[in-house]
Amino acid sequence: MDSFLSLASETATTRKAGLGPHVAFPSATRESESSPQISLLSASALKKSYRKGKHVVPVLLGVDFEINESEFVAIVGQSGSGKSTLLHLLGTLDAPDEGEIHFDGNRIDNVPAAARDSLRNRSFGMIFQFYHLLPELSTLENILMPTMIAEGAFRYFTNRRRHRKRAEHLLELVGLSHRLRHKPSELSGGEMQRAAIARALVARPRVLLADEPTGNLDSKTGEEIMGILRTLNADQNLTIVMVTHDSKVAAQSDRIVRLVEGRVEAA
Ligand code: ADP
Ligand code: MG
Repeated sequence: MDSFLSLASETATTRKAGLGPHVAFPSATRESESSPQISLLSASALKKSYRKGKHVVPVLLGVDFEINESEFVAIVGQSGSGKSTLLHLLGTLDAPDEGEIHFDGNRIDNVPAAARDSLRNRSFGMIFQFYHLLPELSTLENILMPTMIAEGAFRYFTNRRRHRKRAEHLLELVGLSHRLRHKPSELSGGEMQRAAIARALVARPRVLLADEPTGNLDSKTGEEIMGILRTLNADQNLTIVMVTHDSKVAAQSDRIVRLVEGRVEAA
């Protein structure tokens, strides 16, 4: 684990001015077709079943794929095909029964709980179909909450001006500067998802994991949210793994990974 943490902090020094600690590749290396892409997040032979009473429900039967730095990948599949299950495994919210997940060269599916929480908070941003904002807090407070939790009250208070500036910058980026003091109940669905995106980015994650981010929105609002995700990917090189059952939404990603009967369908 020590090696993972030191590696994470080394990576942090290469952080670009934008949203995440992306490794600064020389552009010639990145654009050269002959050089191999760097795999940032990968799954190998992942298996996961759920137990319902006496019955075991197999969901993932051996899932393999790789996601490269700066890619925008859509995971698609029918309802119940295991998309959310897979995203939860990638984000270390749950552990696979078998198989391995690697992030930035390190195995992450079997690390102890505290290290896993720290990895998740630092490296993965997450957004969901139903936003999961805290109803009692304003937009600004919702966005600052992960920082408050990560830093603790004293450090947070010491750095509060800098944090607030960053939250305001993120709200501007997602087009929500005019809703700082609003509670979630006073926001539209699209505005709540914008706030959730800003919250997911506050810790400068390297990967954004998105579970049906447009699933509860009308198509026009969904397109606006997809526009924000595409811009984050293109301008900030943010790596995005998005789960969706909507083929029109998936078509806006760089690459589609399809789950069929517990496995990734051959391309
Ligand atoms: P998707 O996101 O593709 O719709 P899910 O990953 O949510 O699919 O679910 C895959 C299958 O696993 C479904 O049959 C679902 O009922 C089952 N499942 C998901 N989560 C649980 C759970 N916590 N306990 C039992 N079964 C679950
Ligand atoms: Mg799902």
